[in-house]
Amino acid sequence: MQTASSSHRLPQVATTLPGPQSRALFARHDAQLTGANGDHEVYPLVEAGKQDHLIVDVDGNTFADHLSAWGASPFGATPPAVKSAMEAAWDRHGMQISGWLPNQAALALVDKLVAIAPGRLRRVEYSVSGTLAVEGAVKFMREATRRPLVITFGGQYHGESTYMTAGASSDLSNVSSGRTQYAAGVVMVPYPNRFRSPFRRGPGPFDECEVLDYLDYLLVQQVHPGQVAGVLVEPVLGEGGIHAPSQRFWTRLGALCRRWGWLLCLDEVQTCMGRCGAMFAMQRWQDIDPDLLLLGKAFAAGGQPIAAILGTDAVMAATELHLGSTYGFAPAACAGALAGIGLIEAGGVLENVRALERIFLEVLSPLKGEVEQLGDVRAVGAMAAVEFVRSTSCITPAPAFQFAVHQECLRRGVLGISQRGKWHLRLQPALNMPQALFRFSCEMLADAIRAVAKAPPAEHPTVQDAVAMAAR
Ligand code: PMP
Repeated sequence: MQTASSSHRLPQVATTLPGPQSRALFARHDAQLTGANGDHEVYPLVEAGKQDHLIVDVDGNTFADHLSAWGASPFGATPPAVKSAMEAAWDRHGMQISGWLPNQAALALVDKLVAIAPGRLRRVEYSVSGTLAVEGAVKFMREATRRPLVITFGGQYHGESTYMTAGASSDLSNVSSGRTQYAAGVVMVPYPNRFRSPFRRGPGPFDECEVLDYLDYLLVQQVHPGQVAGVLVEPVLGEGGIHAPSQRFWTRLGALCRRWGWLLCLDEVQTCMGRCGAMFAMQRWQDIDPDLLLLGKAFAAGGQPIAAILGTDAVMAATELHLGSTYGFAPAACAGALAGIGLIEAGGVLENVRALERIFLEVLSPLKGEVEQLGDVRAVGAMAAVEFVRSTSCITPAPAFQFAVHQECLRRGVLGISQRGKWHLRLQPALNMPQALFRFSCEMLADAIRAVAKAPPAEHPTVQDAVAMAAR
């Protein structure tokens, strides 16, 4: 089974999952944690620790880590440069509230961010999580334009605040199932998707600029363009299944923004700091000119929580907003983030990311056409997804198939990103995962897909049924 030739260690799963030790811990802690933590099929293990790119569970099983702390651990388990920088800053400063008390650690990071920030972005606002950065950006857009509305794209994810969960939809119909609120001021347009269009049947490739035609229609029928403060968009759709719009889309969206005075806010929480093979994902295209850009996840470099809002002088210079957060830009977090940027600038990381993208497409693409349920294969740097359908002609989503593939991957020691009710499975390795381990993982994923295709699981009658089940 373990076909990759390499000098590094391959994962090894020796028990059924969950193993007996994990099972015992689940039994005890299910009574102590919230019910939302009680689904042990999604991740049927308790981590004992991490070693480079392997997760070790309490039963001694090891798994190739394709979660990378959901993108927040971009250099493997404990990158030495990040660790020593954090320790040195902590020795000097301990904890500090950087938004109130200026300190050298935070200011050194600000200097670096301004130096690498693309386009007109010249200012930094401190933050601590992606969610808070998005909330802050919405406030900046409204303050700067004195307009109320924000355009977002369906399938995006912006965190778990009460407001922005309503401004996103990747977590299926959570909003309408009453788990979060409907929020005023959000106009949602489908995310550009070449494979699956809400306006058409069957598989693409479609012209994904149709969603901008739809936006034009909304601007006549429903929304006055002069009421729109800005557009909140992920340059590559992450939680929604790894979709990268075309250059044409960005050119047209930029023209719309200029025409109507809308601010362009890129949510790069998941795509920043090398994840997509460039420092910022927006650099994969020409002429994207954001007014705001949000950093999170990989920005922490695997260290402590940190996020940021980058903005133009026009948006941020005269602001009266105070978006302070106690932990935003804590000194040790800043030092770790700075060390992480240093690792990327030292070279080799972005090249590795682009090689991972090629490997994923090379290994998985041939299954299209061979496996009836494999609808699409997508990779943008070290963000990769396979999308499952009931049959390639009708492309009705196949969430049960996706979940079965995930279980087969786990048995083969490959821990990717899977969520109930969704029909895409993702790999999100560290940016410096050795190529042989990544290739091995892709081969295991291909193997798992072929195994499940031999006896595909029953799907719920409709996708809405599957979503309702997932939401229970
Ligand atoms: N924006 C995007 C694009 C994200 O992917 C996420 C997290 N998955 C967030 C915002 C929220 O970030 P956090 O979990 O740090 O609050």
